[in-house]
Amino acid sequence: MELQLNVLENGLDFINKCLYELGDSIDHTSSIKYAVLHLNAGIELIFKARLTRDHWAFVFEDLNKAKYDNYIEGDFKSINLDTALYRLQHICNISISERFIRSIERLKKTRNRIEHFHIKENQYQLESIIYETLSYIIPFMNKEFPNIYSFRSFYQISSLLHKQEKYISERYKRIKNELTSNNFKVDCPQCNQDNTFDVDEEICIFCNYSGNVALNEFVKKYADLEGKEGTFTYKQYDILKFCPYCNEEKLIISSTEDLCKCLSCNEAFSKEKFLECENCKQVDILIGEDLGENGEVIHSGYYCYKCLFSDE
Ligand SMILES: [Zn+2]
Ligand SMILES: [Zn+2]
Ligand SMILES: [Zn+2]
Repeated sequence: MELQLNVLENGLDFINKCLYELGDSIDHTSSIKYAVLHLNAGIELIFKARLTRDHWAFVFEDLNKAKYDNYIEGDFKSINLDTALYRLQHICNISISERFIRSIERLKKTRNRIEHFHIKENQYQLESIIYETLSYIIPFMNKEFPNIYSFRSFYQISSLLHKQEKYISERYKRIKNELTSNNFKVDCPQCNQDNTFDVDEEICIFCNYSGNVALNEFVKKYADLEGKEGTFTYKQYDILKFCPYCNEEKLIISSTEDLCKCLSCNEAFSKEKFLECENCKQVDILIGEDLGENGEVIHSGYYCYKCLFSDE
């Protein structure tokens, strides 16, 4: 476990270095070559860290000779990038798009040319190869390593990239189709892109940030829980109520659509199913005609049984 984190951290270091060199304007022509080398090394380590998450032996070139002591000592012949890719796909069952693989191939070829032949490369071409590969590897990390944001270096990398035009436009090229879905989307609390966080799928299409962690942050960011009671200040989703399923005050009720959506337990349902006691404001869910789980609709108002049968 410890080792896996070291490998990941090491990979992040290389990517950080790559970004630093990418931004070096003083000796750009020379720096950009190192940026390619470092990105390549970083990706190799990140893939190895992901393989190690499933099993440490997967980074041994010869699985038959895998030995834990050797692994700990770092005394073994480890896999190359191609084998890492193969094992990620066919052993760990991770889907890696053809285009991601092609961009890695391009990066690898470029690295070989730089390393062995000292051929002069066009710096704009190098830059575009780097940004293209980054636009795959950053979302890959978000998806494959839970809690990656707790790594300071990843946080630094992604916040830097999410402000860079070249990275952003490169990334939007990849997600054009996914963005057209009709799912309920909001601004992503992580990458700050407009309407890229798909609340139905619980994932940001732009940066792949996912899970309830994101949803909770999303509420913190947009809901004014401290101030006005029950105010939810996000575009048309302006009402925040207690959720009848999980009882968290994280149910958003759309004022324009027929939709209630809980940002905590993720339950989604039609507005007419949402009931709130006229008297005590206890929430409930409609289960039959005029009937809630804990109350009834009387004269077009809903009342919970507690209030209905109280003496007052
Ligand atoms: Zn995002
Ligand atoms: Zn809920
Ligand atoms: Zn009541």
